[in-house]
Amino acid sequence: MHDVLIIGAGPAGLSAARWCDELGLDTLVLEQNEEVGGQLLSVHNSIENYLGVRAANGRELRDLFAEQTKDCDFDLWRNVEIQSLDLKAKTIALRSGEKLQAIAIIIATGLRRRKLGIPGEDEFSGRGIIESGAKDRDAFAGKDVCVVGGGDAAAENALLLAQACPTVTLVHRGKKMRARREFTEQLHTNHCITVFPESRVLSILGGDRVAAVAIERAGAIQPFQMAVQGVLVRVGFQPNTEIFQSQLEMDEQGYVIVGSQQETSVGNVFAIGDVANPLAPTISGAVGGGATAAKVIAARLSAVQNRSR
Ligand SMILES: Cc1cc2nc3c(=O)[nH]c(=O)nc-3n(C[C@H](O)[C@H](O)[C@H](O)COP(=O)(O)OP(=O)(O)OC[C@H]3O[C@@H](n4cnc5c(N)ncnc54)[C@H](O)[C@@H]3O)c2cc1C
Repeated sequence: MHDVLIIGAGPAGLSAARWCDELGLDTLVLEQNEEVGGQLLSVHNSIENYLGVRAANGRELRDLFAEQTKDCDFDLWRNVEIQSLDLKAKTIALRSGEKLQAIAIIIATGLRRRKLGIPGEDEFSGRGIIESGAKDRDAFAGKDVCVVGGGDAAAENALLLAQACPTVTLVHRGKKMRARREFTEQLHTNHCITVFPESRVLSILGGDRVAAVAIERAGAIQPFQMAVQGVLVRVGFQPNTEIFQSQLEMDEQGYVIVGSQQETSVGNVFAIGDVANPLAPTISGAVGGGATAAKVIAARLSAVQNRSR
């Protein structure tokens, strides 16, 4: 039995754990990955907007978070797989057999990149699927590549790859791109980049590595194959909330609905950071949500203890 179980060790979960420790709460953090840090691990650019720190990339900021929490008293279990949970009863069963219970649960499970869900996407992971334009540009220098998506992230990655690749084909579903004008103007003047609007990548093909994509284009009679050696997908994010389905209120996209104290529709269950669909998903917001939830829980527990004295 713990005071608090925190699910997720990204910026939100680590901040909540740090605050729970400071407030004297017995806390266990459950992280599904080997490494803590969440999305920070996929930030390859410098982070300039988290006040008080300048970090060369997300991993560097994650290391600072880890350094600041290493002497804290909370427990952190990595590589954890939650088998089932009952938010009302505050119980969690792990695949490894442990059964956990707490007075409060903090959900800090964040987001993951949305996938296309097409053949080849998983199979070619690490064999031609490009993780990031900033990180992988040099590895794909001289190769023809395809970028899928119509927002800022797709546009920015296409521009980065075009610095090293002879051709970059950007495929998106809409008539117009959603990316900001600054990016779309650069896309249209860059002679390495071709934009296919109203188009879809149907599958990623190849042998040992990616060799082509099958594309469906509006106006084309039938899908066609285009030779590429790399594919980068940026079609948005989705919240990691499947395991909480039907146990608390979520919006139509699966984000957890919370009130001003980060509490969900289930008493003493809180959701913080990106999973709670903040207007601006940021490290600062995630860290702030962790502090709020921990302080609310500590205040409630101390009120209960005072009453029972
Ligand atoms: C490329 C990129 C650049 C960015 N740049 C900036 C920037 O410059 N400034 C800024 O403020 N923000 C930036 N962000 C956004 C910022 O990284 C996020 O807002 C922040 O990481 C959200 O933190 P979080 O803890 O809510 O979620 P996440 O970082 O998503 O962490 C969630 C954690 O929960 C874990 N988890 C998920 N499901 C489970 C489960 N079932 N069981 C156990 N653990 C689970 C995950 O493995 C992960 O470790 C950027 C994001 C990206 C992708």
